[in-house]
Amino acid sequence: MNIINPATEEIITTIQEDNEVSLALKFEKLKNSAKQWSAVPVKKRAEILEKFVSLLKENIEELAAILTSEMGKPMQQSRNEINGAGAKAIWLAQHAPQYLSEEILSVSAQMTEKIVQEPLGIICNISAWNYPYNVGVNIFVPALLAGNAVMYKPSEYATLTGLQIGAYLVAAGVPEGVFQVAIGAGEVGGALLEIPFDGYYFTGSYPTGQKIYEHVAKKMVPCVLELGGKDPIYVADDVVDVASAAAGIADGAFYNNGQSCCSVERIYVQSAIYDAFVEAFVAEVKSWKMGSPTEDGVYITVLSRKAQLEVLASQVSDAVENGAQILVGGKRVDRKGNYFEPTVLVNVTHDMAVMREESFGPIIGIMRVENDAEAVYLMNDTAYGLTAGVYSADQNRAEVILAQINAGSGYWNCCDRVSAALPWSGRGNSGFGSTLSQIGLKTFTKPKAYHLRK
Ligand code: NAD
Repeated sequence: MNIINPATEEIITTIQEDNEVSLALKFEKLKNSAKQWSAVPVKKRAEILEKFVSLLKENIEELAAILTSEMGKPMQQSRNEINGAGAKAIWLAQHAPQYLSEEILSVSAQMTEKIVQEPLGIICNISAWNYPYNVGVNIFVPALLAGNAVMYKPSEYATLTGLQIGAYLVAAGVPEGVFQVAIGAGEVGGALLEIPFDGYYFTGSYPTGQKIYEHVAKKMVPCVLELGGKDPIYVADDVVDVASAAAGIADGAFYNNGQSCCSVERIYVQSAIYDAFVEAFVAEVKSWKMGSPTEDGVYITVLSRKAQLEVLASQVSDAVENGAQILVGGKRVDRKGNYFEPTVLVNVTHDMAVMREESFGPIIGIMRVENDAEAVYLMNDTAYGLTAGVYSADQNRAEVILAQINAGSGYWNCCDRVSAALPWSGRGNSGFGSTLSQIGLKTFTKPKAYHLRK
């Protein structure tokens, strides 16, 4: 398998993919090591994961360069990702003893009741490329903390990073047999579905998630799906600083070239401030530097996958044919590498693909709305349900709106944000099950209830 730099289109290196035989050997190693790891006290496992984070930080420049070379995000955003993932891993490690240790619920003269969180066993984590550290740590860190062995399949667009993650986990003290990296693309992912894992944790697109769920259902083991989104933001007319709201939302839409599961993908602005918002938003987008991911100060760089250029071009042409207006951008950049101009569309409607299908790139549609009720209706008019946000001077107004939105996370005056302490979960085509927070630590365990009579 060739690993290609999306900015230069050159082959970085060639790596041997796994096949059924090599996957079976890796699974055997996991089986042989799982019991030993589950017997390590949770505090010790937490120390090892904290050491993993220290090693990532010590080697951040090298790791950021590898990440940027294979998936094309600006170097500074690669550093941000490693730091952000590290902070989440630390939170999980520090809270694991509290949430994973046995819990005595009641004791009477004769009866004790307690809950023990047992590890699932050997779990399979099939992952995405857009934030290999950030989405990876949501799964493999709590899975390891809970005492599981892990088969980790990085995306074929983040293979080198996946191998680094495996190497640093072992360097930190995770026994080699406890964390195995499966190399390859969809076929290798498909082969993993044939192996009897004790749980499947998938981060990726809705179509792949649906296939995996169908396949895993027969196995009667847990399946958690963290899938795509079409996340909306509503800007209400009481916003005081329209320019700063516009700048924050533009960052939420275009950070990582719009390749985030929780990127802002639809914007609704109340009539009274619509013109001022659009003007400030466009000014912000025009202020960004576009260029090679290794250049200083770049914000917009290349898309990781060449095929996505076609998706974006077709969303733009569909929108324009149906009456949308392009205020900025709109096309592929005529240079080597997967560059697409940051694109702002207005006069959009929900009949257009750009307002219905995940764009996963630097393009956004902005729509005028008259009131909160119309905003709520449009925000909910989607098959996805990952995050949703409201910008308003009034917290109560925002919370009343967010309570009506069918999404796993609600934002007031912020967006495109993840917290280790809060559950991360989707609804509808955005998937189900939670990672992060105490819920996400327990998702890698099976509870056992003890009824103990003296
Ligand atoms: P993808 O579905 O194309 O691939 C994801 C993984 O699945 C890869 O490792 C791939 O090799 C593997 N795969 C592909 N076909 C398979 C099959 N038939 N069986 C088993 N495995 C298979 O997704 P992607 O392009 O890597 O990631 C982008 C998507 O992920 C976007 O939709 C994005 O919104 C979503 N995402 C969601 C979250 C979240 O937390 N909800 C986080 C990051 C990304």
